[in-house]
Amino acid sequence: MRIERVADGVHLVRAAAVNWVLIDDGDAVTLIDGGYPGDAAAVEASLAAIGRAPGDVVAALVTHGHVDHVGGLAPLAARHGFPVLTGETEARHARREFLEQATPADVARQAWRPRVLVWAATIARLGALRSVSVPTARALPDGPLNLPGRPVPVATPGHTSGHTAYLLGDAGVLVSGDALATGHPITARTGPQRLPAFFDHDTARADAALDTLAALDAAVLLPGHGPAWRGTPAEAVASARGRES
Ligand SMILES: [Zn+2]
Repeated sequence: MRIERVADGVHLVRAAAVNWVLIDDGDAVTLIDGGYPGDAAAVEASLAAIGRAPGDVVAALVTHGHVDHVGGLAPLAARHGFPVLTGETEARHARREFLEQATPADVARQAWRPRVLVWAATIARLGALRSVSVPTARALPDGPLNLPGRPVPVATPGHTSGHTAYLLGDAGVLVSGDALATGHPITARTGPQRLPAFFDHDTARADAALDTLAALDAAVLLPGHGPAWRGTPAEAVASARGRES
């Protein structure tokens, strides 16, 4: 696990296969996403590393309900009682009223990629095959949130039907989730990029979501997978699209 402070109070935590974000305003923490089921202890350790505890988390925001983004925060939310918030559609996804996630068969079809088998073993160890739900997940209120970082939710459907990015306007940080990544364990590519299409529920909508991200004002991109990237969302999207052609 690596923790990078990217702006005042804003930390990107990079675990073995996925990221999460901690926003500390001095006495409370907003958690954005929370790793695989096997990352729950790492989420707690990341809070300890910035001098905080799970009891300081006032809310967890979720970019999307995939097992690698809610698996680790689910037991912490149950134990510590903090709310878990995301877009209305994604809240239903996190509650597992439906599931839009690559299946083990989808992954098996990717086994020709050189890195897939190592990655699959890693995520299996982290609980990727467990069925996870967050029964307390609920819809965000509209507008800027009265939480550390004053995050503004940005609907970015495609990767999942309710995928939600978060703009931290004061810090100039865009938390893009899996709408726009900067790397992934199954690819050697670096820099802004879309995840491999088999991860997306709706690839066309995922591409359209890049236009939404490109219009936002930020100086740092914090993705769900890959390192922090410095530049505007417009530059990140242009770079990602350049790779597709
Ligand atoms: Zn992910």
